[in-house]
Amino acid sequence: MGNEAKEIIVVAHCLMNKPSRILGFNAPILDLTSANVRCKNIIQLPCPEMIYFGINRREITKDQLDHPNYRRFCRELFKPFADMIEQFADVGMRIKIIGVPKSPSCGAEVTTIGGEGGCVTDFKHEHIAGAGVFFEEIEEELVRRSVLIELEDLK
Ligand code: SF4
Repeated sequence: MGNEAKEIIVVAHCLMNKPSRILGFNAPILDLTSANVRCKNIIQLPCPEMIYFGINRREITKDQLDHPNYRRFCRELFKPFADMIEQFADVGMRIKIIGVPKSPSCGAEVTTIGGEGGCVTDFKHEHIAGAGVFFEEIEEELVRRSVLIELEDLK
């Protein structure tokens, strides 16, 4: 295998498909021509929020997503991908997972919390260090399978 063939980049869905995002969510897009990505092997993860809530969903924070059913959904959604990633790792490939900064689901290094429950007109939120719910489940599943990974947000 050549050097590029020894690494798999696993990317959050909307880094390669912006229409899956809620309107107004401003986050970077993967530049397929950049030296870091060009000629790399890429696995595109599914978008958990679009599948769970639909395309017309509204903005949401991590604390609102952090409940058993959404976590279970994320775990199940990721399992077939974990099966692939585990096998690539077993044949010696390096696994790098790239998240979306500030996402409550797919943030790898920074996520968003806040938003009181109930009838509110003013939706307050803040950005904190830490992963979103989907990425926490991804990391937990791969650690459980002893798969070595690098995790980072797209810069
Ligand atoms: S859930 Fe993840 S993939 Fe979907 S829009 Fe949000 S950050 Fe992107």
